[in-house]
Amino acid sequence: MAAVRSTASAATAAAVRAMSTSAAGARKLIFFGAPGVGKGTFASRIGPELGIPAISTGDIIRAEVKAGSDVGKEVKAFSESGKLVPDELVDKMVKRRLAEPDAQNGYILDGYPRTVAQAKALVEYETVDAVMNITLPKHVLMEKLLGRRACADCGRGYNVAAIHEGELDMPPLLPKPEDCDQCKGEPKLETRKDDTEDVVTYRLDVYEQETAPVLGFFEELGRVVNFPVQKGIADMPRMREVLGMK
Ligand SMILES: [Zn+2]
Repeated sequence: MAAVRSTASAATAAAVRAMSTSAAGARKLIFFGAPGVGKGTFASRIGPELGIPAISTGDIIRAEVKAGSDVGKEVKAFSESGKLVPDELVDKMVKRRLAEPDAQNGYILDGYPRTVAQAKALVEYETVDAVMNITLPKHVLMEKLLGRRACADCGRGYNVAAIHEGELDMPPLLPKPEDCDQCKGEPKLETRKDDTEDVVTYRLDVYEQETAPVLGFFEELGRVVNFPVQKGIADMPRMREVLGMK
């Protein structure tokens, strides 16, 4: 009997996975996405629209360090010695952040969990509604990351990559006259030093290696919703639809 039951539940889990194109009503969210996919932009827009905070691990760490909390001091010691901040410490900070009043109706986690151990720690005390897996093909991510430019005067970010391929339609983000008082739409654009092909390839590989097991973990729980980017920020209406927003 037990064998039959587990087969049935495996089939159900597979069905749930297959159906996971909608996360309607989900408010406890994790956003996954490779560098260059625009995950942070989506999170920073969806968060306010839903009235929930977009919480990035980087922000939490900076806040704790700035506040000089015990955890903050520990984190600082690790980063100053060039060591990775251990999972338990990150888990502790995230748990504390999620206990704050503004996160009680939901949140978007950005950059956490990064390991299966962190994911396990999270689901011990939280019911994650959906993991949005925001994707673009790797060669497009490369193009977008290598297309990043910044105004040499004010630092404002642009992107010269023009991507038109199949369903993908992402125009470049070029300076407009109203963008900057100083530069009047004709700024000198610079490439960031670490936006080289080698560094970008490395960052994408690391992301893939780190993320695959964590995604697998949430797939087992039937929580992953794949969101292939097609038009960049112009995909916002489709994302609202997936999340059951108006
Ligand atoms: Zn400028």
